[in-house]
Amino acid sequence: MKTSFRRLPPCVETTHALTRVDFQAGCGIQATGDGKSVKQVIVYNPEVESYTFGPEHPFRLDRGRLFLDKARKHGLLADGQLLDAPPAGDNALLSFHSPEYVAALRKADEGDPGAQFLDFGLGPMDNPVFPGLYRLSTLFAGTALTACDLVCEGGADTAFVPVGGFHHARRGRAGGFCYVSDLGIAMEQLLWRGLRLLYVDIDAHHGDGVQDAFYDNRQVLKISFHETGRELFPFSGFESELGSRLGEGYNVNVPLDPLADDEVFLFLFKKIFPPLAARFDPDVTIAQIGVDMHNTDPLTHLRLTNNGYAEAVRIIVQWSKKLIAFGGGGYNPDNIAKGYALAWALMNGRDPFTDGAGATLGGTFVGSSELDGLGSLLDMPLRISGPEKETAAQEAYRVHEYIRRNVFHRLGI
Ligand SMILES: [Zn+2]
Repeated sequence: MKTSFRRLPPCVETTHALTRVDFQAGCGIQATGDGKSVKQVIVYNPEVESYTFGPEHPFRLDRGRLFLDKARKHGLLADGQLLDAPPAGDNALLSFHSPEYVAALRKADEGDPGAQFLDFGLGPMDNPVFPGLYRLSTLFAGTALTACDLVCEGGADTAFVPVGGFHHARRGRAGGFCYVSDLGIAMEQLLWRGLRLLYVDIDAHHGDGVQDAFYDNRQVLKISFHETGRELFPFSGFESELGSRLGEGYNVNVPLDPLADDEVFLFLFKKIFPPLAARFDPDVTIAQIGVDMHNTDPLTHLRLTNNGYAEAVRIIVQWSKKLIAFGGGGYNPDNIAKGYALAWALMNGRDPFTDGAGATLGGTFVGSSELDGLGSLLDMPLRISGPEKETAAQEAYRVHEYIRRNVFHRLGI
């Protein structure tokens, strides 16, 4: 990529120093046919595993560990690809969040869920308050900024942040298990560098926090595929939400009927994502690749398998010059481990659909069995048929036609 990057602004540079970054090991660097080097890294601070949102809370902070164990088991992790990240300073949080909200997060760190915190979305239920919450927020922010640094200046083409992608956090409010917008902090940093960003979100929930933060910004093309807001939190993300002022046409929502399966999802994804990515030609793609579109996810209603998920990730990787992927949501441990491992394999140029018969990524071992200790990462295919399929397909045709008329036309596609 030819883009030249400017230096970090002083406020971030002074609070954020890279640690344990080792690009000399040679691992994670693949020589391609034309002799070009490609680097893929995982950015992960294991300290997040020492926190919990509570025993009944569906968001697991051990999701990074689940993924790493699976990736190692399948031989997907080379020495030097796994990088630590330091916590960010206050200034990093303030680069996206309001001073009042950052102050509230700091007070919440004492573990007292006072009534005043409710104004900031903090309190019982979705966004519980607990000791260490502020520290945890700085870990999420620091990980996102480290990923940005690695992609912009560290020589990496792809950074995967398995514990991240908090797309419901607002500038002044927590929401939907999201306290700090690691996505927003990363995107503000990349925008400061003058880069054009494509944000693509395939989490089952609409990325409302990112949409709101950059709704009038045409420097960021935002595309979110998600279960329709008629059925699922945050009850937004309709196709008619197109952006405002200069950003009009640069906010694309693709709601899915709850009956949608891999085929319906991929029909929409292939019709909408590649033309937009080609037209916008971003410097960096930011992807939120939550795994909760899966048919066994306990919080959502869609009918996908990880075959559809992996195909979408493959296309995102294909269309990205530089990619920072965040793990996002997903509430079934097996889906988290397999989905992220598939995504990581694809980021490393491995294709689970063609990786050879009997290969551990797919091939003849398709299925969920782990009896041999190394079952496939890919699910058994699942296809919906009959009236249910017809309902989901008709809704997909309608949404596609709406986007073709109201977005493609506006962007000159
Ligand atoms: Zn989600």
